Amino acid sequence: MSQLTQKSPPLNILQEVFGYPVFRGAQEQIVNHVCASGDALVLMPTGGGKSLCYQIPAIARHRAGRGVSIVVSPLIALMHDQVGALEEAGVHAAFLNSSLSGEQAAHVEREMMSGRLVMLYAAPERITNPRFLAQMDSLYERGLLSLFAIDEAHCVSQWGHDFRSEYLALSLLHERYPEVPRIALTATADDLTRADIIERLRLEEAQIFISSFDRPNIRYAIVEKDKPREQLLRFIRDEHEDDAGIVYCQSRKKVEETAAWLESEGLKALPYHAGLDVAVRQRHQDRFLREDSVVMVATIAFGMGIDKPDVRFVAHLDLPKNIESYYQETGRAGRDGAPAEAWMAYGLADVVNQRRMIDESPAGEEFKKGQRGKLDALLALAEATDCRRVRLLSYFGEASQPCGNCDNCLHPPATWDGTDASRKLLSCIYRFHQNGGQRFGAGHLIDVLRGKVTDKVTQYGHQTLSTWAVGADLPEQQWRAVLRQLISLGHVVAEGEYMTLALADSARAVLKGEVQLLLRVPTVAPKKGRLARGSGKPATSNRSAAPIELDEDAQLRFDQLKAWRAEVAKEHSLPAYVIFQNVTLAEMAKQHPQTLDELAQISGVGAKKLEAYGEQILRVLE
Ligand code: ADP
Ligand code: ZN
Repeated sequence: MSQLTQKSPPLNILQEVFGYPVFRGAQEQIVNHVCASGDALVLMPTGGGKSLCYQIPAIARHRAGRGVSIVVSPLIALMHDQVGALEEAGVHAAFLNSSLSGEQAAHVEREMMSGRLVMLYAAPERITNPRFLAQMDSLYERGLLSLFAIDEAHCVSQWGHDFRSEYLALSLLHERYPEVPRIALTATADDLTRADIIERLRLEEAQIFISSFDRPNIRYAIVEKDKPREQLLRFIRDEHEDDAGIVYCQSRKKVEETAAWLESEGLKALPYHAGLDVAVRQRHQDRFLREDSVVMVATIAFGMGIDKPDVRFVAHLDLPKNIESYYQETGRAGRDGAPAEAWMAYGLADVVNQRRMIDESPAGEEFKKGQRGKLDALLALAEATDCRRVRLLSYFGEASQPCGNCDNCLHPPATWDGTDASRKLLSCIYRFHQNGGQRFGAGHLIDVLRGKVTDKVTQYGHQTLSTWAVGADLPEQQWRAVLRQLISLGHVVAEGEYMTLALADSARAVLKGEVQLLLRVPTVAPKKGRLARGSGKPATSNRSAAPIELDEDAQLRFDQLKAWRAEVAKEHSLPAYVIFQNVTLAEMAKQHPQTLDELAQISGVGAKKLEAYGEQILRVLE
């Protein structure tokens, strides 16, 4: 160990290979622990910087003669780019998966068996393949099996949303190679998943590193649905012109429709869902990773492992399942640390749909109860009038102060006392029930409350109800908000194909006036400041939004650097960010280095890249 740290202190590797000046958060502790052959379980939010936690130990241990590190990842489609990024940084890495030809695979195996390889990426099913096991045995006997990194470790848990049965077999690593340290990493934080990972991967002895789940550069905003497509378009046009982003929808159909519509509005939007042909999916993913300002419209099938650093926004047009999913999905924005936005539009139908999906699922009652609890927490977040981040973090067990970077902090919503309105609404449902036992949906209920004469009203004689027109003073939108709250809080249930409404037992307390309901005053289009960055709206389409503030000249240099980078990326068939991230280019443009030494000082410029590209960059900057 002492020899190890002396020869290649992790900090040297961070600076020399990756060009970053300092470790982030717990990275340093984790890296030191793994370099010293300790097992580790790392819980860090998406974008927190997990990769370096195993890549730096892998490099350090390789330099100390310990051989090859095996990185287990379920994300075959991304291995090519991950390995490409390491090779760009001067680290000898490779992957083995079904996309390689026999000849290519044989070459990788030779590199591995010689111990020259620093990191090998492989899918979990590869690990249990007898031929591969025999190769690892041989490396182990020669002391050249250095480290196992198990990425996306939550895939081993049946509780999680990404369970992969092949992950279960990974327990053999500990049994077969007890001397080889293992580091498991995940962004899934809940206790159940964590306990599962420890048990199934036999990590009882591992040190657990839990990072703060805060992502301070992400601004959270949740708006009420009111023509969601137009709201989305306005959000993108006003704040994210030319930015890359992800739009999540629940169904495949909605993905297709939304993508087509955004495209018709002149955006570079592509659909992605599990129903599309594999080749189409891969092509769209590649375009998202390789081109600028592509908006990916997707179901949750898209996103795990996508490490594109400059995703500037994640938008939800439908409510996710729970806060864990919301946090994972929104976490894909702003990995580079520059300002990014998580935006969601939600409405009454979302609440009803999510409730119904749980009710109608074939799962057991106990499981459904858990799901309902999780949905309630998400709804409370959506309806909250206080800091969103405080709520999110407290869900993950972290205490914090109002953040100043969410919609509620920036524009505190007005609240009103909805107790009286709630009682009117509940008693109206009660009257329907008394009056023939018939159930009705939200539209009719609100018509009756507001005293709007319709065919249905006449047909059922609802003008005669005591609740007729008692709510004429409130606009329809406000009534919807009241109903949404009452459904969110479980006082009203919406059932069946037509989402007809009925009272829950708990409605009694509200009717009696025992429960006070403070509601947000509905806002149609909350005014939001543009994210503090860039030089405002790009004047022409070949100018692009920079992740930091740039003056006129620097913006010009930034655009030129991007054009240069695009050529290089194309030559190497890699995504542009693998060559240099936007934040790095923007720093170059801003600082305008004149010499290689000055260039080397910029975060993200490692030794190998300086050597390969330094002269070219200085020329572009001239
Ligand atoms: P995760 O796997 O946890 O989602 P990544 O490992 O992809 O996150 O890292 C997220 C981003 O942060 C990457 O763009 C990476 O280059 C950057 N990063 C990680 N650690 C550092 C650091 N110490 N200094 C600067 N940038 C870092
Ligand atoms: Zn806040």
